[in-house]
Amino acid sequence: MKKRPSIALKPREGRRARAGAPWIFSNEVVMDAAAKALAPGQLVNVKGDDGQDFGTGSFNPKSLIAVRLFSKLCDAPVDAAFFGERLGRALALRDALYEKPFYRLVHAEGDGLPGLVIDRFGDALVVQTNSAGMEALLTPLTMALENLLSPTTIILRNDSPSRSFEGLESYVRAEKGEARRIALEENGARYFADIGAEGQKTGWYYDQRENRAFIAGLAKGKTVLDAYSYTGGFGILAAKAGAREVVCVDSSVPALKLAEESAAANNVAIKAFNADALEEMARLASAKETFDIVLADPPPFVKAKKDLEAGARAYRKLARLSADVTAKGGLLMLSSCSHNIDTERFAAECAQGILRSGRAARLIRSSGAGPDHPVHPMLQESAYLKALVYALD
Ligand code: SAH
Repeated sequence: MKKRPSIALKPREGRRARAGAPWIFSNEVVMDAAAKALAPGQLVNVKGDDGQDFGTGSFNPKSLIAVRLFSKLCDAPVDAAFFGERLGRALALRDALYEKPFYRLVHAEGDGLPGLVIDRFGDALVVQTNSAGMEALLTPLTMALENLLSPTTIILRNDSPSRSFEGLESYVRAEKGEARRIALEENGARYFADIGAEGQKTGWYYDQRENRAFIAGLAKGKTVLDAYSYTGGFGILAAKAGAREVVCVDSSVPALKLAEESAAANNVAIKAFNADALEEMARLASAKETFDIVLADPPPFVKAKKDLEAGARAYRKLARLSADVTAKGGLLMLSSCSHNIDTERFAAECAQGILRSGRAARLIRSSGAGPDHPVHPMLQESAYLKALVYALD
């Protein structure tokens, strides 16, 4: 067997990896000519300057995250059997958590599979390989998926913006079967998702499942504004739980169309508005229209670390406008899926925004993504979703 190349750490570097994190950054490794010449995604052995073995990882000389560790052992095989074992573990956890096969099957580093995201929709899998290392391992990965689940459909949804940090091109391709509109079940409701290029991300946001259930539990007889509704995940469940009126607002026409179809499949009615959510909330506020429950789940406002201050201001404005349209005694849920803002800062911006709306609030729930989005304990970056629920006076 050809000897696997080695990557050396600079003296005393690799602090986070030594503490158990699965990442080593480009400024921590000896980036000599041999290292630079390695193909992005190449499997390597990683060693500290003190001779400590960091194990097997994938290496990308073009990425800030130079090494993503797969195993604590050097020369560990990363083949179909390796994937079979890790995927089997991921599947066992979801089997224990959920009755139906609709969930995030793999949440990257959180499931010991760096750079890999897989959402499962019954016998259809939507796969995202977000690192050069994982991209180079597509063959053993799909073999292992075949062995484990024999899916009818595997869609490679490889158009996430993070791929550009790895020097990877953007594409969407059916590896098996075809991209199509599919049905899924969640919290006892039926939804439709588009797992082709028309849908966003993998087609569905499983991360909000438990938060949707929490809100639905409080929705009976209430009016609900689902801002940034996408395909109606929150609004439809609230309607099914007996909400008196549900208004969904989103800037995507195809998403709203799916929301209307999903509502019909559950025998409930929603009102779907195609609009900019902030503008619509400002308009509703000036018309003095309010809702008992307001949900705001926008796209990430802090896309990169350098956008933190601008993004934080945007969250504050969102909180203010959404509080403006929340009825007296109502509930407001504010979400952020930006991993570049932490919960503390996000909560501080939400508090400021609500205050500026002239409202007193009690924070009654602070949560994140559901348990099918496990967090690597040494990698807070893998906990990205924040969902804060306030009771407004
Ligand atoms: N709450 C949704 C997920 C929201 S994702 C769920 O539970 O599934 C963010 C959504 O914001 C996307 O559907 C996107 O189309 C929408 N969006 C982006 N910019 C927007 C804007 N300016 N106004 C309204 N919606 C917007």
